[in-house]
Amino acid sequence: MPTPAHSTVAEPLTYRHDAPLAAGTLVRVPLGRREVLGIVWDGALDAPDPALAAQVRPVAAVFDALPALNAHWRSLVAFAARYYQRALGEVALAALPPQLRQVSAEQLARRLNRAARLAKDAPAPGRPPAASESVALTGDQQRALAEIEHESGPFLLFGATGSGKTEVYLRAAEAALARDPQAQVLVLVPEINLTPQLLARFQARFGDHAVAAQHSGLTPAQRLQGWLAAHLGTARIVLGTRMAVLASLPRLALVVVDEEHDASYKQQEGARYSARDLAVYRGHAEGVKVILGSATPSLESWHQSRPASGDDPGGRYRRLAMPGRIGAAEGGGWPRVRRVDMGHQPKGTLIAPPLLAAIQERVARGEQALLLLNRRGYAPVLYCADCGWKSECPHCSAYRVFHKVDRSLRCHHCGFAERVPRACPDCGNIDIGAIGRGTEQLEEQLAALLAGVQRPGGEPVRIARIDADSTRGQGQLEAQLAQVHAGEVDVLVGTQMITKGHDFRRVTLVAAVNPDGALFSSDFRAPERLFALLMQASGRAGRDAASHGTAEMWLQSHHPDHPLYAMLKAHDYPGFARLQLDERAQAGLPPFTHLALLRADARSQGAAQDFLNAAAQQARQDFAADPALVGAQAAVRWYPAVPLPVQRVAGVERAQMLLESPSRAALQRVLAACQPLLHGLRADGKHRGVVRWLVDVDPVAV
Ligand code: ADP
Ligand code: ZN
Ligand code: ZN
Repeated sequence: MPTPAHSTVAEPLTYRHDAPLAAGTLVRVPLGRREVLGIVWDGALDAPDPALAAQVRPVAAVFDALPALNAHWRSLVAFAARYYQRALGEVALAALPPQLRQVSAEQLARRLNRAARLAKDAPAPGRPPAASESVALTGDQQRALAEIEHESGPFLLFGATGSGKTEVYLRAAEAALARDPQAQVLVLVPEINLTPQLLARFQARFGDHAVAAQHSGLTPAQRLQGWLAAHLGTARIVLGTRMAVLASLPRLALVVVDEEHDASYKQQEGARYSARDLAVYRGHAEGVKVILGSATPSLESWHQSRPASGDDPGGRYRRLAMPGRIGAAEGGGWPRVRRVDMGHQPKGTLIAPPLLAAIQERVARGEQALLLLNRRGYAPVLYCADCGWKSECPHCSAYRVFHKVDRSLRCHHCGFAERVPRACPDCGNIDIGAIGRGTEQLEEQLAALLAGVQRPGGEPVRIARIDADSTRGQGQLEAQLAQVHAGEVDVLVGTQMITKGHDFRRVTLVAAVNPDGALFSSDFRAPERLFALLMQASGRAGRDAASHGTAEMWLQSHHPDHPLYAMLKAHDYPGFARLQLDERAQAGLPPFTHLALLRADARSQGAAQDFLNAAAQQARQDFAADPALVGAQAAVRWYPAVPLPVQRVAGVERAQMLLESPSRAALQRVLAACQPLLHGLRADGKHRGVVRWLVDVDPVAV
């Protein structure tokens, strides 16, 4: 079924009400035959035409127990809608907790009473808590905090893993709260489930009641409660994933974006906003300081924080460096990086003998090892050597992955799953084989390879796996992480999930089993992501100061001399960034240009591409003839439509078209003008096959 590209109203609608309503007031209004939540966007019309007023429908109910959403919030939402080319109403409603759409004014009033009672019973927030007095700040931390105190930012806190960034966030938050008894701090994190420690540290420092979490893992009631706490000001700290950037925070005083390089800050559906970029915008608009923190900053933020030199006035961000690990000797404490040349290993080697020996040695000493393989399942493809059959997904241009645990073939794109056939479906050959390896297979083969090894007490080695499959159930991830922390696991196998901020104290060896794939990807950001992933993984080794001298990070590679690995070995992010930025400057890629994607999904690849190419052709004609657009159009380069890397998903063909410009403003003007053009094209009968189209501004994957 074709679905409309935008299901929400693009522009504000007009309703009447007896008394004036302040902008930002929440209301319920009739829309067609339904009654829906609405936000008063503008106050009263100056001189309503009486004839018109009679036709306009009345507001059904006013949520007058709730303070209006303030002008800052409204302009943030308006900016996000404009910049990311979505309907205002869509962005505004998506920023509110879903339950708010269902409650009546009376139900909400009851919730508010309860929230007020809870707030009264809670211990007074903002008393300067005991914990912070116990640690003496390092020199780097003191310098960073002094700059944050005296300069206006935005700040890029370029701090190694374990350099004490979190302590800087906590102290900066403390200072902001101490200055103003009502101040609020927004802390963004990529994924709360993977890094529960950060939330725990904020709660320990500021009290459970003062911290409201905002993420998609909460129940609708919890989300509403947290949102209300933020909106009413009872929450002093709002800690959440990307959605939290749009929280209503009337007394916002500081914004922190942890792991600012993380791709999960980019929303991948609806309004495809970057929470990191919106955080910077929000800080600027509200006159509030913003701290972006990372050990491997995005190249955009790195470039934006370059110091002035020669003719170059430098970037707009202020870079604060914290290169040393807490508790490490001067400049030290890094795991030694060891590269294994897989070209010198027998074909099909999963774990090279020297790495296996190193793992055995660690485990025998009672230490933990962590093995990273960024591919889940048992094998990415099943294959028949007789006739060439492969486990293709009938609905997608992708192979179904073999999962041995339940003997299924599962498509990781559309979810289509079947039991593994006993014999080749095409020729009946019963000897079908697997190509490539995933975490399930690594876990299985490792068990065989380590079968003879004993732990210090003489017990056998314990292996565990953490990936999206092993953690599907409620609470499974937490339980598995707890096992690792408790020392009940000797070797942990997993996808990138295991590289996030976990503070595993006993891990002394980390190995990337097969990281090469990203070196030659068609996505220009793949090396940047790989470098960040491997740095983050290496940060898991030797967290405990006692193991600082002996921790190791192993890389198995067919290209061990690749500059990316050399920079990794030297723990040289700035060197890596310099190489990448030189390449990007030469190729005319971000941060030196700005990108947007037009995407179309259709019944056939041809229909999707035709739609995009027709749009480009019409835009070239129309915009060049429009004095208001001709300049912008000249500054934007349109590339031909191409299929997406996975071009068919769930039976829908997908195509995209890249737009590139050295000028963000020009690109924005062209994209805005494309909206009516694309709506018009879609409505015209020639493009019936198009299921939907969308615009992705500043895409993270191309
Ligand atoms: P990051 O966020 O940069 O990875 P953390 O803030 O988590 O680093 O700090 C790493 C460890 O060092 C944590 O256990 C933290 O409690 C501790 N720590 C942070 N600052 C100090 C300090 N000034 N003195 C002693 N320990 C510290
Ligand atoms: Zn066959
Ligand atoms: Zn599929």
